[in-house]
Amino acid sequence: MVLKKMIDRYKAIGLKMTPQRLAILEYLDGNREHPSAEDIYRHVKKRFPTMSRATVYNTLETLRKRGLIMELSIDPMKKRYDPNIEPHHHLICLRCRNVLDVFMEFDVSVPEEARKDFVILGNHIEFYGLCSKCRNASHGEARNKEA
Ligand SMILES: [Zn+2]
Ligand SMILES: [Zn+2]
Repeated sequence: MVLKKMIDRYKAIGLKMTPQRLAILEYLDGNREHPSAEDIYRHVKKRFPTMSRATVYNTLETLRKRGLIMELSIDPMKKRYDPNIEPHHHLICLRCRNVLDVFMEFDVSVPEEARKDFVILGNHIEFYGLCSKCRNASHGEARNKEA
């Protein structure tokens, strides 16, 4: 989402924009890394050393509740956040937990007998594997073992 739109919507909710909150929004704007709250905290703290974890967590929670960011449960170790709220899918590296976006629609459907009366409103597909960096690293390891 474009930063200005995010700021407008943030203000429209009736929340006060503080420099700290603005820094969080700026960091999230166009961010494709699917950062965790801790990642965001560490980054913003560089500019605002007095920033508390609570400020970051509360701001993220507010943004999530208002639908300005998505919370992802793709990482068992921590919640990750996605400022891109357009429907999309994810490629997840099992080794480094790098997450890549896939903006494509897949033709998946759940047969009537399996979904009973359930109404499907959307889907999110997680593909697991190894990113190129990790694949190259493990190839390197294999070569080292052979040598
Ligand atoms: Zn990786
Ligand atoms: Zn994403």
